[in-house]
Amino acid sequence: MKQILTYPNPILKQQSFPVTNFGLETQAVIDKMLDIVGKSDYSVGLAAPQIGKLQRIIAVSEIEGERTRLLPLINPEIVFFSKETHEDYEGCLSIPFKVGLVERSTKIRIRALDRNGNKIKLKAAGLLAREIQHEVDHLNGLLFFDRTSADKIYNYTIKDGKWVIQKQALTAEGVTL
Ligand SMILES: [Zn+2]
Repeated sequence: MKQILTYPNPILKQQSFPVTNFGLETQAVIDKMLDIVGKSDYSVGLAAPQIGKLQRIIAVSEIEGERTRLLPLINPEIVFFSKETHEDYEGCLSIPFKVGLVERSTKIRIRALDRNGNKIKLKAAGLLAREIQHEVDHLNGLLFFDRTSADKIYNYTIKDGKWVIQKQALTAEGVTL
């Protein structure tokens, strides 16, 4: 995917700026992000810096059974992290063919704005909580590398839509964010 910046592009290490204008330009960035996440077979989330925009915008997927709802969040702030954490494999569109075992809070609470600038509050658990923590990290110039240790980062290939993690010769149902 050509439009996605990949590590070590220096933009990925920068802080993004809060969105203050909800006009056409911002709407176009949101639409582009939703389009990328919606069309991707293996990515469930995206942050604006990954397409070269240093704006605090993320797009995540809420998966309920067969249905997937795409959710753009503007200026998201995680205001609560559960003490309970869970370690799982995490990938990133900007770091092709690597996954990391990353510990994340299992539950979070978020304040954000919707695409029209209205305030929203949201609770998330499980995969959605992991997605949002990963994407908010992008807005602060952090990649999953920065959340785990080198011995928990592995190379993988994709076979039949699943990751084959080479070092451990195992197959995982992971997520790319
Ligand atoms: Zn990512």
